[in-house]
Amino acid sequence: YQALPESDIFAVEYWDLEQAKLKQAGNPPMFAGEVALVTGGASGIGKASVAQLLKQGAAVIALDIQPSIKDLYHRPDFIGIECDLTDTNAFKQALEQGIAQFGGLDMLVLNAGIFPVARAIAELSTLEWQKVLNINLDANLTLLRECYPLLKLAPRGGRVVVIGSKNVAAPGPGLAAYSASKAALNQLMRVASLEWAKDNIRLNTIHPNGVFDTGFWTEEVLEARAQHYGLTVEEYKANNLLKVEITSEDVAALVTAMASPLFSKITGAQLPLDGGNDRVI
Ligand code: NAD
Repeated sequence: YQALPESDIFAVEYWDLEQAKLKQAGNPPMFAGEVALVTGGASGIGKASVAQLLKQGAAVIALDIQPSIKDLYHRPDFIGIECDLTDTNAFKQALEQGIAQFGGLDMLVLNAGIFPVARAIAELSTLEWQKVLNINLDANLTLLRECYPLLKLAPRGGRVVVIGSKNVAAPGPGLAAYSASKAALNQLMRVASLEWAKDNIRLNTIHPNGVFDTGFWTEEVLEARAQHYGLTVEEYKANNLLKVEITSEDVAALVTAMASPLFSKITGAQLPLDGGNDRVI
């Protein structure tokens, strides 16, 4: 990952120069000089996380299956690469391209995922099941394994933030594949936190519930869910103890907090981000 293609040298030099200017200004942003990789950066929580990490001074490599990722930003501290994360070779190439551009990796945000239409187990095909597990679970094993040697070298310690789901604590009917994928991802995160503490790589998980300004939710689905619970859409959106709506920006803010020195002594933790509930994580 050390080799720098001739064409990328200008970008790196420009980025270094910007970082140097910030440091000289005496008040560098939190992630100045660091590099983050965000999966599923084209939409929802991933997109908001990219924006906040850039704002805090990180250079960001964003991967997404949607071609629009390439044009999310045109600035020297951002590279968006179109990539189906279930294709291991495509991912490895994308990672090499990103690392060639920025020279290392400090933070990894495992966010990309799909939320399939509800299907009872009696009607759930193995193909549908595998499609969900391929992206929500298997792709994250590949990401962790391939990023490990890079995260080990992060001067302030590697940080991994995982986007889980309230389904880990409270699985939903019709959501067998999704709930199973997130529960298994949670165990993967916990085992990695045991194995990698010696390398000062810290992994923590956010379990959001009901983030409605994302590609997960259409008006139609929202109305059907609200109706199912006998609530108006507005009531359903804030159906938690604190009666608040959770936004992508809220999740992204917790992503940056978990990657920050605030969490330097925490690993293997799980935080619900849901306005409060009566479940136990
Ligand atoms: P979203 O659909 O807006 O974002 C998901 C992103 O992942 C999309 O940009 C999509 O293109 C990308 N993606 C999907 N498959 C991919 C693949 N094979 N390769 C590369 N990229 C791929 O939805 P979101 O709510 O922002 O979802 C982000 C994460 O949040 C997911 O892991 C989801 O399970 C989790 N989550 C969401 C909610 C919610 O209510 N929105 C609640 C709990 C957890």
